Amino acid sequence: MVKIEQLTRPFLTFLLCLGIIAFEVSCKLEAKTSCYANLKMIHGAKDTYAIEHATTNGQQVTEKNLLIYMEAMPRCPQGGTYKIGAVGESPSCSLATHVYP
Ligand SMILES: [Zn+2]
Repeated sequence: MVKIEQLTRPFLTFLLCLGIIAFEVSCKLEAKTSCYANLKMIHGAKDTYAIEHATTNGQQVTEKNLLIYMEAMPRCPQGGTYKIGAVGESPSCSLATHVYP
């Protein structure tokens, strides 16, 4: 005869696994959203720099140039590396899933 405990244990394990997976997905989404916000901030600082310094498309912008407009250079929450890019280009993260238009 099968005891109720034998039936509920796999079900509870299944629910626990679902909870862990949901938590991981939530953390990854939050990091991706945070990275997107960082790239948007870098883009805004770069646009401001370009306007104030009358730069043209293709001119390189450095981290030092942007620190005038931000307290600190933002970092990707999952360890990706940011590429500021030139004026007229969008900044990007080295992590393939962290996309900024
Ligand atoms: Zn990133």
